[in-house]
Amino acid sequence: MVDHVESAPPTVHRPATAAEVAALVRAAAEGAVPLTVVSGGHGPWSHEPAAGLRLELGELAAIEIEGTSVRVGGGAVWGDVASALAAHGLALSSGDTASVGVGGLTLGGGTGWMVRAWGLAVDQLVGAQVVTAAGEIVEVSVDQHPELFWALRGGGGNFGIVTRFDFAAHRLPGIALAESVVDGDATAVLRAARELLRDAPRELTVTYMDVPPMDPSAPAGARLTAVWAGPDPDALRVELAPISALDGVRTEITEPAYRDILLEMPQPDGAEAPAPPGFIGGNGLVEELDDELIDRLVAFRRDFPASVVFLRSLGGAFGEVPQEETAFPARSARWFVMAGAFDVPGLLDDAGRAQAATDTERIVAGRLAEYSNFVDSERPDTVPGMYDAAAFERLRAVKAQWDPRNVFRRNHNILV
Ligand SMILES: Cc1cc2nc3c(=O)[nH]c(=O)nc-3n(C[C@H](O)[C@H](O)[C@H](O)COP(=O)(O)OP(=O)(O)OC[C@H]3O[C@@H](n4cnc5c(N)ncnc54)[C@H](O)[C@@H]3O)c2cc1C
Repeated sequence: MVDHVESAPPTVHRPATAAEVAALVRAAAEGAVPLTVVSGGHGPWSHEPAAGLRLELGELAAIEIEGTSVRVGGGAVWGDVASALAAHGLALSSGDTASVGVGGLTLGGGTGWMVRAWGLAVDQLVGAQVVTAAGEIVEVSVDQHPELFWALRGGGGNFGIVTRFDFAAHRLPGIALAESVVDGDATAVLRAARELLRDAPRELTVTYMDVPPMDPSAPAGARLTAVWAGPDPDALRVELAPISALDGVRTEITEPAYRDILLEMPQPDGAEAPAPPGFIGGNGLVEELDDELIDRLVAFRRDFPASVVFLRSLGGAFGEVPQEETAFPARSARWFVMAGAFDVPGLLDDAGRAQAATDTERIVAGRLAEYSNFVDSERPDTVPGMYDAAAFERLRAVKAQWDPRNVFRRNHNILV
């Protein structure tokens, strides 16, 4: 987990305008005071008390919609964005959980139910308002400060505080959702999913999750969830047939509203809220779900009762964005894989913690890159592994230009 900076409580501020954010950043920079930026509050730095200034951006949560253009305050959460968009028949590719912040998720990239249909959250970002380390308010886009705009799309909170995100939303007349409970051979299901997703239409995104009892994230057992970005349950049924037909797989298809498939998690409640259980494990953006990787995942889950395995299909629109267009790594990855264990009392002892760490490093050893948004620990030496090599050098140059004194350092910090 993140190191404690100091034990003194932070001074909490809830700015309501970009100008107030700018004044607070100037004060922090002038006094060399550590700065913690909180949007949805799900990131590791939001849970770890640190002395200094804590900027909670929840007052900056306005959502303005004009045609398909959406302006979202830097402290909004995705559930509110989805609700506001639904009234206009629109949606954005975001994360899977309603209470996760637009700020943290977007700046790290943002993978969700529509990642194959529309790409990452950052792939829909067309501009932003940013308070820089110098306390200036700048507008960024492909035409205005293009390098800073590039860096914001995957480089995390390193470059400034985003007080407004401008997105281009998509029309979404409806969706279909399939939940497949897997009681049978997990290897067969994962191989079938791999084959299916090689040529599947981009409308289809799937996740696969296998968790033990007592895990806070989902009901126990293995399940594959498929979302079809369109009002066509029959298309989803046909696409999923190779998986649904497998022994031990029970599939149910429904047509919920997009807002309703965003999972609910209790909203962290300020600096004093208890931290959620830590996750010990690793993740990787991987080129392919090859047989060896599937075998390692299945064996990990089988031999280690506290283990959790999570996969998400990529490709589709995600893979069509040129690598250099955003700072996000590994556009050739076809899957995102995460393995580890939640550090819940009764589920994990010291030996289990050690096993979770070593086993998962082995599982994701062949990854193209690590996905920063799912890394809870603060290990500056691992930050280069979250980017393609050329992108990391470019990020360092942007950091040197916009935040040479590292005012924004409570994040996966890019060191100049
Ligand atoms: C339950 C749960 C579900 C998740 N699901 C997904 C998912 O489906 N897809 C996915 O990609 N990720 C997912 N994540 C990971 C998530 O994207 C990261 O944890 C993310 O950092 C959370 O953002 P936040 O705004 O809620 O957190 P915060 O703690 O508020 O922010 C995290 C960091 O982002 C930076 N930051 C936040 N807002 C701003 C801003 N406006 N300007 C500048 N910097 C800012 C700061 O450095 C901050 O420390 C999930 C996490 C959880 C806990």
